[in-house]
Amino acid sequence: MIKFEQVSKTYPGGHKAIEKVSFHLQQGELAFLTGHSGAGKSTLLKLISLMERPSAGEVYINGVCLNKVTAKQVPYVRRDIGVIFQNHRLLDRYSVFDNVALPLIIAGSHRRDIEKRVHGALDKVGLLNKARCAPETLSGGEQQRVGIARAIVNSPPILLADEPTGNLDPELSVEILKLFEDFNQHGTTVLIATHDLGLIARMKYRSLTLKAGKLVVDPLMGDTL
Ligand code: ADP
Ligand code: ADP
Repeated sequence: MIKFEQVSKTYPGGHKAIEKVSFHLQQGELAFLTGHSGAGKSTLLKLISLMERPSAGEVYINGVCLNKVTAKQVPYVRRDIGVIFQNHRLLDRYSVFDNVALPLIIAGSHRRDIEKRVHGALDKVGLLNKARCAPETLSGGEQQRVGIARAIVNSPPILLADEPTGNLDPELSVEILKLFEDFNQHGTTVLIATHDLGLIARMKYRSLTLKAGKLVVDPLMGDTL
């Protein structure tokens, strides 16, 4: 489902953000991606969502080598990948409903389909009653759930989250994590970048750990790579 083969990413200026990283995440798996700030977590997620391209090595999504994906094909590959950020980047000029509908509008979906899917997504995150509200009137946890609804509105098989609980208190963090577990139990492959080690320890999932751009611990691959 997500496969890295000897992937390196060197940013302009020569900084090596990711170095020779290899791992394989199976369809339907949920895993954490952890490591210190600057270890390369965001870069790794950006290589999956095609926001960055590797300097060396290959990234595969559903068996497709992303190196071979042209700029024109990028939006189609991205439809399979929902991305959740710490700062959910909601548009305050639009209602909660419209914020969640955005990916579908961009994809050119029909109005009736949009209504059905947005209601379904808001229902899943428990925010149906807030559809007409402006995002700024919601609490931090609710805003984060709107971001999650937007990421899952087109039912992508892959969900990536970059520090999704960074701004939330522990109780809300657990709630958000439960949502990810729920999506995962319905077949979605989930990769969550976080440095919240308490949260990771509480949930028994595979954990990929980056240290200065290198994968240091992957329980499925042995201790050191
Ligand atoms: P993390 O998400 O684990 O904090 P990042 O992937 O954001 O790590 O960053 C890894 C390293 O790459 C850091 O040293 C960071 O400064 C550097 N980096 C990230 N993005 C860029 C960029 N666009 N240009 C240059 N260096 C970058
Ligand atoms: P501090 O407690 O002073 O913040 P730590 O070393 O405990 O310093 O943690 C800093 C950050 O480094 C953590 O938030 C986490 O992102 C990362 N980190 C620390 N230890 C580990 C570890 N064993 N595995 C993965 N990430 C770690």
